[in-house]
Amino acid sequence: MVVMNMTRTKSAGFALEKSLADKKKRAREVLAGLHKLYPEADCALTHEDPLQLLIATILSAQSTDVTVNKVTPVLFQRYPTARDLAEAPPAEVERIVHSSGFFRQKTKSIQGACRKIVEEFGGKVPDTLEQLVTLPGVARKTANVVLGTAFGKNEGIVVDTHVGRLATRLGLTWTSKDGKDAVKIERDLIGLFPQDEWTFLGHALIWHGRRVCFARKPNCPGCTLERHCPSAGLFNEAGDFRG
Ligand code: SF4
Repeated sequence: MVVMNMTRTKSAGFALEKSLADKKKRAREVLAGLHKLYPEADCALTHEDPLQLLIATILSAQSTDVTVNKVTPVLFQRYPTARDLAEAPPAEVERIVHSSGFFRQKTKSIQGACRKIVEEFGGKVPDTLEQLVTLPGVARKTANVVLGTAFGKNEGIVVDTHVGRLATRLGLTWTSKDGKDAVKIERDLIGLFPQDEWTFLGHALIWHGRRVCFARKPNCPGCTLERHCPSAGLFNEAGDFRG
């Protein structure tokens, strides 16, 4: 299969990757670099079981992990099971999750998901993608987080804003041009990386996006992936891309 993807032309080395094999070779190098950098990369949302991770991930939309990690201990202490959460007074759940933003919608999603878990899955979070995405407030990204981190199943790759940005900058997606089409990005990444690395890859790219490859002003000079990255050094002092 020939993939004619013109990557950033900072240097001849990245001028044109003609084949999927070329891309896979560089993907292997990026992966090795990420393992070296973040051997313990993991989910930053505090949780003790699949239900807690599911709820925390729903709450993390448009919020920060730090904020969610302050909210969830209170929520889970008050309502420890799916049934407890499903039967809780909505106003009380809203009050607890308020600081995470979009608290009314998130409360509806949390309680709807818990209700369905109780009524249709015996009180246990289901462990397949098909079942997870039937829960209110759960789309593919949240399902991938739960499957990979709580159940150790590599069924997909989590594509959030960091993963989208890094996949684009690192030239690991070619069907999505702006780093925002999560479905296309996930499909490209799945084609490049071995399945048993998918969960690690999502976590490690998120860590790298938070610590080095910032949305504004990525730290290319301090990035150990620089020699594998077609975007390295292509940002001006203001942090804008000038490739
Ligand atoms: S070299 Fe720069 S653009 Fe590439 S991954 Fe590192 S920080 Fe990001």
